[in-house]
Amino acid sequence: MMNNEEVHYCSRCILPSTKPDLSFDDNGLCHACQNYDARPSIDWDLREEELKAILEKHKSQNNSNYDCLIPVSGGKDSTFQIIKMLEYGMNPLCVTATTDKLSEIGRRNIEVAKNLGVDYIEVSMNPVVRRKINKIALNQVGDIGWPEHVTIFTVPIRIAVQMKIPLLIWGENSQNEYGGPAASADRSVLTREWLSEFGGMNGLRVSDLVGQEGIEEKHLIQYTYPTDEELDSVGVTGLFLGHYIPWDGHNNALVAQAHGFETWPTVVEGSMVNYENLDNLQMRVHDYFKYLKFGYGRVTDWAGVHIRRGRINRKEAFLFAEKYAGKFPDKYLGVPLSEILKDIDMTLDEFVDVCDRFTNKKLFKCDRHGNLVKDRHGNLIKLF
Ligand SMILES: [Zn+2]
Repeated sequence: MMNNEEVHYCSRCILPSTKPDLSFDDNGLCHACQNYDARPSIDWDLREEELKAILEKHKSQNNSNYDCLIPVSGGKDSTFQIIKMLEYGMNPLCVTATTDKLSEIGRRNIEVAKNLGVDYIEVSMNPVVRRKINKIALNQVGDIGWPEHVTIFTVPIRIAVQMKIPLLIWGENSQNEYGGPAASADRSVLTREWLSEFGGMNGLRVSDLVGQEGIEEKHLIQYTYPTDEELDSVGVTGLFLGHYIPWDGHNNALVAQAHGFETWPTVVEGSMVNYENLDNLQMRVHDYFKYLKFGYGRVTDWAGVHIRRGRINRKEAFLFAEKYAGKFPDKYLGVPLSEILKDIDMTLDEFVDVCDRFTNKKLFKCDRHGNLVKDRHGNLIKLF
């Protein structure tokens, strides 16, 4: 983290040095920008040939089983994944692990995804237990979305084992576009190690939940990664589609929209686009904690994506970040924060206390007593 050194920004995009695992080269260019620059040297035609060969190898010879499994949220990227796999002539099984608090637009977009013409399974975890985990994770690691980060990986892999479908088609490697150590960004395969290191576990393990708030081991079946023996018996393997075809979330949204994907009528609260994170009403609280811990949010990630592709300049990006990022999450997709908190049995005062506890006070203005300074809307004042 900071080590008292000054916070600085990437010399091209606006990712800050407070972002975990983000490295910079001698010219001050962040790893996400370096990865993007490396793209023209990638032979994408060759990569696509490699992809086609992998897909061909996994096609069911006698149509007795699915060719691959696609983890699906109903978002723009998974919709794009389905469209591409159908284009390649694959017969996928699509699997959704229900989000923490599914929105109405998220539900409609799941129907859009199914109606691309695929078989589909949705696995919903016990909502009573889920809400308890949301609260525990928010309190202990400052991440309300922790159970979702876990189950979007464990559920599809569990189904792959049970249905004996070896090949999983993931979307992008988030460490590539958004920046991370080279060893992880170059991975084309998602493994258990990747999940625990970069998949958003934040140091909380599934086994830590047992005994808290009446949660028992039996409640956590869907949160559990299959054993190596189970994975080996099916030969489960996965690939990041973004390794084989150039990945651009903005472009994916356009393609998904052309196939019926519904966007939000305006820019989503706390974001700078209208086509991302439409499926979980807790998402803004999740993103807000990233801001409290590291001083940047989803707006900054998106600004980087747009800058690298020449769609906006750096000055505009800073203006966007100032306008949209890091505001107190009073509502999301029109649903008030009070409803989110009621679900997890937390008062607004308790919530504000948790926020303050996870706020990095080196990044935000404090008074001379060391208390965070906030405006009348509860917004913090960033120091860099
Ligand atoms: Zn950068």
